[in-house]
Amino acid sequence: MSESWSAETLLAQALGEVESEFGGVVPPIHVSATYIRSPDNSYPAGVVYGRDDNPTVRVPERVLARIENGEEALLFASGMAAATAVFESLPIGAHIIAPRIMYWGLHKWLSDRAAIGRFSVDFADLHIPGALEKVLRPQQTAIVWIETPSNPMWRVTDIKLLADTVHAAGAVLAVDSTVATPILSRPLDLGADIVMHSATKYLNGHSDVVAGALIFKHTGELYHRVQSYRHDVGPIVGHFEAWLLLRGLRTLHLRVSKSCENALSIARRMANHQRISEVLYPGLPEHPEYFLARKQMSGYFGGMLSIRIEGGADAAISVAGKVKLWKRATSLGSVESLIEHRASIEGPTTLVPEDLLRLSVGIEEVTDLIADLEQALKLP
Ligand SMILES: *Cc1c(COP(=O)(O)O)cnc(C)c1O
Repeated sequence: MSESWSAETLLAQALGEVESEFGGVVPPIHVSATYIRSPDNSYPAGVVYGRDDNPTVRVPERVLARIENGEEALLFASGMAAATAVFESLPIGAHIIAPRIMYWGLHKWLSDRAAIGRFSVDFADLHIPGALEKVLRPQQTAIVWIETPSNPMWRVTDIKLLADTVHAAGAVLAVDSTVATPILSRPLDLGADIVMHSATKYLNGHSDVVAGALIFKHTGELYHRVQSYRHDVGPIVGHFEAWLLLRGLRTLHLRVSKSCENALSIARRMANHQRISEVLYPGLPEHPEYFLARKQMSGYFGGMLSIRIEGGADAAISVAGKVKLWKRATSLGSVESLIEHRASIEGPTTLVPEDLLRLSVGIEEVTDLIADLEQALKLP
């Protein structure tokens, strides 16, 4: 499709991909686990076996590479499979830097793998200017991993600022952009080398697919190592999930815009609620990175926010227990709104305040969402 068409157009039409045999407007699902060789021993379409590649997987990969302005994208069986493929492609003993508070599952995995000597990790508050420099080891650190906005405090990290420092030290900058989505920010345009998404979240957006994505600015050495890791080990996304993901991507811009508008209204409404001690949302002027978020996130601030309830864990859990419309569930980025007592899922070693409820705002009518929260916040 034309170079000049906008992201919304490219997404709605999935780059114009269609089914070629009958002219179906939707690309088909290829279910084959293996492909036929020609008599001359070659593979005419370049596809060999289902563990390493699948034509249905390639379609959303092309869409994501284009939307994020990367050279190539690789899809995985989960966000964690995507993220860990990057770290598993680093040499033994590599030095990694990651956020002190970030997506919990990845923080735990990094700590566990570091504990058995696979690599070494420094966790730091990378959203604070100067924090990276304290742990960065020039010409030694292999990769700096950031998440922006970050779970579940929604701190915003300056990708452009960090990219220069990271590159000057000879390291790679990877960004978990799950919460921002390509609609709100394009980390590769800001200097990052790799973008990661849990495609389970906004990219698919309907709570019916588990998948992950990596998009690479350039297909250099690290890309090839990650690609062979996926080829050799097999954490590729399934063909049916890839097809559903393509369907979800067509409406990404509509879903993200609506979620962001709803989240901003809810954050403003909750900011003065007497039972809420703090609303964590980059779209409120009192947020420490409000101006950075305005600059880095193209007009919206995301569909995720957290509220801290006066009275601690019990009070927070009881508020979550009273909602009727919001769904009490983990995960985020779907059309239906979810509420979660975050410390309960992260367990006793969590760094998250125990009075914190994480809200993933969906695309429902916002007055219904606010009314439900307000009735749940009423004291008995
Ligand atoms: C969910 C999530 C992940 C992990 O993705 P899965 O698809 O659950 O494996 C990583 N990072 C962020 C920010 C997430 O929200």
